[in-house]
Amino acid sequence: MTLRARLTTAFLAVVLSPVLIGALFVGTMVSKLSHERATERLTVAAGSVRTSVGALCGQLRAVAEGVAAAPADQRLATAQRMVSAGLADGVHIDNGVDGATTAQAPAPPWADCAGPDPQVVSDAVSGFEALSARVPVAGPGGEPTGTVSAAIAVDGDLVRRLAQASGAQLTLLPGAGLAPGAGAAAPEPDLAELPDDTFADDAAEDGVGATLGDAAGELAGAAAGDVTGAAAGGLPVDDPTADGPNQPLGDPAAMAGEPGGEAGPQTVPLDPAPAPPPAAAGPVHTTMLGSDAATVTGYAATLGEGAIGAAGNGHLVARLGPVPGEPLPLAVSLPARPPTGLYLLLTVVVLVTAAVAVTVAWWLARTATEPVVELALAADRVAGGDLDARVPVRGNDEIGRLATAFNHMTRELHTYVAALTASRDQLRGHLGVLGDTLSSTHDLDRILRVILQTARHATGASAGVVLLADPATGALVGQCTEGLSEQWTTGERGTLRVPYGLGLTGSVAATGVPRIGRVEHDGPRLDPGEPDCRTYMVVPFSAPGLGEASAFPQPGALPAARGVLALYDRLGRDEFDDSDLVTLRTFAGQAAVAVDNVRVHEEAQRLSVTDPLTGLFNYRSLRDSLRRESERAARFGRRLCVLALDLDRFKEINDSYGHAAGDAVLAEFAQRIRYEIREVDVAFRHGGEEFVVLLPETDEVGGVAVAERLCDAVRREPIVVPARDGGADLYIKVTVSIGLAVLPDHGQQGAAVLQAADEALYAAKAAGRDTFQVAALGGLLLASGGASSSPQAPRQARGR
Ligand code: GH3
Ligand code: MG
Ligand code: MG
Repeated sequence: MTLRARLTTAFLAVVLSPVLIGALFVGTMVSKLSHERATERLTVAAGSVRTSVGALCGQLRAVAEGVAAAPADQRLATAQRMVSAGLADGVHIDNGVDGATTAQAPAPPWADCAGPDPQVVSDAVSGFEALSARVPVAGPGGEPTGTVSAAIAVDGDLVRRLAQASGAQLTLLPGAGLAPGAGAAAPEPDLAELPDDTFADDAAEDGVGATLGDAAGELAGAAAGDVTGAAAGGLPVDDPTADGPNQPLGDPAAMAGEPGGEAGPQTVPLDPAPAPPPAAAGPVHTTMLGSDAATVTGYAATLGEGAIGAAGNGHLVARLGPVPGEPLPLAVSLPARPPTGLYLLLTVVVLVTAAVAVTVAWWLARTATEPVVELALAADRVAGGDLDARVPVRGNDEIGRLATAFNHMTRELHTYVAALTASRDQLRGHLGVLGDTLSSTHDLDRILRVILQTARHATGASAGVVLLADPATGALVGQCTEGLSEQWTTGERGTLRVPYGLGLTGSVAATGVPRIGRVEHDGPRLDPGEPDCRTYMVVPFSAPGLGEASAFPQPGALPAARGVLALYDRLGRDEFDDSDLVTLRTFAGQAAVAVDNVRVHEEAQRLSVTDPLTGLFNYRSLRDSLRRESERAARFGRRLCVLALDLDRFKEINDSYGHAAGDAVLAEFAQRIRYEIREVDVAFRHGGEEFVVLLPETDEVGGVAVAERLCDAVRREPIVVPARDGGADLYIKVTVSIGLAVLPDHGQQGAAVLQAADEALYAAKAAGRDTFQVAALGGLLLASGGASSSPQAPRQARGR
């Protein structure tokens, strides 16, 4: 789930939940209020109907009392006049013996305003035809002599008028209005459905109802026990055998024939025929349509008096009567329509709110997440190596600050990477130079310089120096410098001289322990022979074969290190750090290896051209030197004198003193040669006890002088061989014979001149040894000299 989806969902949940809950609450409240309002209207309508019926009862009672007050013989006429005046639809006069009814009186049964007769079974009547009020007639002595009943027809017109007065639908229920088995007692109303002020209360408060109730109470005693005979009919008829006012009226069939019949009083039979079976349970009169009327009628039959309920067709129904003051079984109903329009409006509001919420949520989520998405894309680009990626800054909020920080970070990153790349390229270049230098040359000065330069660039030092130990002087001597002032760099090797153990570099060389720091804080006292600095980093060259010197060596003693690599005054940051030290130790290791390599190389090179016994150049070197020097002499028209030397009777020395003594004699002989010749002259051991000396730029005269000098140097003092095995030192007298030849006098090539010198040597041997001979020009010996002048010995083979 994306961030945008999550934000949208969260916003919708926050916004829509209250809207939906509110809509639900409003809908519920509207439904409840609508129901309560309908119930209230129905209550008012029911009260209105009850009042209207009570008023009718009052009117009928007044008519009946008026007729009863008339003289007995005028009562019927009086009744007829009142009917004619429209005060009632019919009057029935019961004088105790028989009865008389006005013409066109409503057919029985009549509902009595005094209330239903509890003895009447509801099924006995199909419906009341009239509403009547009955009053007693008193005799002269005040004794009851009969009753007068005034009635008004209960028809559709009356029901319509009552309905119009109430503002509700009205239905006259069939039968006596009593639920089977319920008797006359009103069922307990459904408290849950009834308002606080019930219809019964309304009726009780109504003056007319109270009057009717009182009248009914007064008549109740008279009617008690007089209903047995009329029970089958269930209708209020006049019972001649009974005085009670609550007697049901006469046979409905008999009375039914009277209305509309001839005018005038009629006699009502005292024994009415049994009542027909009740009609179907449909409404007697109603203002409702057929199906609704039937539903309401059926439902109202289940309600008790004053109860309110909802019928199956959605109508609210209030049941009235029969009770004293309201004897008619009526159902007051109202359509309890749900507030569909309000619900529709509520639904539209919810839908519109939801649509707006979704749109706003989507817009908010989009605007909120768009910078984040851009940021994520830019981060991906940076991760992919594109450091030019930037995100637009759209504001000063948190996202804007994040974008600003991101752009700043990528800019800095770009700068760092560029610097690192440049530094890496630079270091790579230095390392390349260093590698090439190390692999291709044995020039120690150049190697040390490259190492120093590379180390300086790698660590950011402003200056540096390489010093190597010089055991001869007991000091460190500067080999190369970088970035130092001129005072330290003048001369071939500068002026850096630091005794072992003194100053900064001297102490590192003496102890073999690297040092790093700042002079003013933790630096040693600098030696006058080393440069000033603020910060420093000095590492020793490891010296193979040399142990770590813990004791402080005296000047001139063997140092712990062969040399030191020192860097001064770091650029940028103040002091060198541990990583710089690691770097410098790496370069110092390379420097040490380079120094060792060069020295080993130099030693190998020296050994390859040197005779180890005498320290003179060997035969191989002789060939190279002879070729080189002869070519140079030939090219520049110079002379080259070649001396061939051979110790006389050396075999006898070996034989007499041993081979070791012979070696010592050879070494001493070489030393005397070295001592007698010039710097530019070069001595070689030709092999065995034979030697060669090249005298560049020397002619025969010069060569003869050197030959004489050499013979004299050998001859002058015996060679002392130190005693061995407790014996005495040996003093061995040695002489040498020398042959001399000069290029180009005795040959144009070096080899030829050497050959000529060799032949002259034989001549010297032949001449008695301890002498020299100059090679012959054309076979003649030109000069000779020495202690002996014996004839030239025959040429003999010489060991080489
Ligand atoms: P001559 O006066 O005629 O030169 O006589 P010689 O004995 O010197 O000459 P010869 O060639 O007979 O003997 C040379 C000897 O030198 C033979 C050999 O044992 C000895 N010799 C050669 N090389 C060495 C060496 O390196 N050390 C020693 N101790 N003796 C050597
Ligand atoms: Mg010899
Ligand atoms: Mg020899």
